[in-house]
Amino acid sequence: MSQTDRVAMTPETQDTPDTPDSMRAAVLFGPGDIRVVDKPVPVPGPDEVLVRVAMCGTCGTDLKIFDGHFPQTPPFGAFTPGHEWTGTVAALGRQVDEFKVGDRVCIEAHSGCGRCDNCLVGRYTACLNYGNPAKGHRATGMTVDGGFAQYAVHHVSALYPLPSQLTFEDAVLITTAGTGLYGLDVAGGYVAGQDVVVFGPGPVGLTTVQALKALGAGQVICVGTRTSRLDLARRFGADHVINARETDPVESILSLTGGEGADLVVECSGSVGIPALFPQVTKRGGKILVVAFYPGPVTLDLGAIVRKDISLFTSRGEGGNNVKRAVALAAQGKLRGAEMVTHRFALDDIAEAFRVVRERDGDPVKVVVVP
Ligand SMILES: [Zn+2]
Ligand SMILES: [Zn+2]
Repeated sequence: MSQTDRVAMTPETQDTPDTPDSMRAAVLFGPGDIRVVDKPVPVPGPDEVLVRVAMCGTCGTDLKIFDGHFPQTPPFGAFTPGHEWTGTVAALGRQVDEFKVGDRVCIEAHSGCGRCDNCLVGRYTACLNYGNPAKGHRATGMTVDGGFAQYAVHHVSALYPLPSQLTFEDAVLITTAGTGLYGLDVAGGYVAGQDVVVFGPGPVGLTTVQALKALGAGQVICVGTRTSRLDLARRFGADHVINARETDPVESILSLTGGEGADLVVECSGSVGIPALFPQVTKRGGKILVVAFYPGPVTLDLGAIVRKDISLFTSRGEGGNNVKRAVALAAQGKLRGAEMVTHRFALDDIAEAFRVVRERDGDPVKVVVVP
């Protein structure tokens, strides 16, 4: 989107009233103990932006943070989680001229230090100064305060203008979509005409299905265990869906691919039993991309992977400026986010929101919190 579009989009918001000093924010006081309290509104540093949060998505990573199992989070009693937020620019650090007050923005969670080997090549989700804010690294809602609050700050490099045709619900999922796109980028990117299996029709898997179709993939085959999510996968363009509770996924994938297996297998499920299937469902000379995190070690016959000359890739989060690509696909209508938002909670009800996520009560896909 051009600068002119952005200016034209929000002309009325130039005179935003002054930001208050205090805000409501969720704070983690201990494992499983989240409360909404008054907190000072953060002040943006020279290259940071203050955003009035419109909504913040919840995800599996939040459950780990919530339970106290995530490394490098700030101390209990002060830390505000939330890494999938979107909103409206409220104030700018003095070096920031890329945005103006009133712009609607979406984010990516990670902003690297910008000075280590990995940041220099765009791999800022693997920043060598990860968790060190003094060196400029910030992973919002993970290593610094995030978006389960009325206001949040972020580095200007991690913000993207939200095209006018997109809603904040779309924006929450754009952050998520960057994960699948970065993975495809790492795995070589060129998927046109290829048969691709996506394990796990959660938000990452569902955005990846859409991205694959937009990038010209051949058959996209989505494997899951819940009918409602598989129905969404089909709605988002999956050519085939396989419910692994009803059908043997290995047999189905082989029969759909002429007995050869998929050119590319994308693992978004994080289910410990899935890697054992990789050698059987991947074509000789094909690729495997793992973007999911697992709760513990998994079993994989690596020898079989080598014998079939399969390349194995992993990636973490949404690096490589891929959120910008996600914004572009969403703006073209090729990445539909809002349809995945199934539940909405007020900030005061954040504990209940997390209960719903954890217990999968009411079959949620994306649960958002509105401050
Ligand atoms: Zn997340
Ligand atoms: Zn770095």
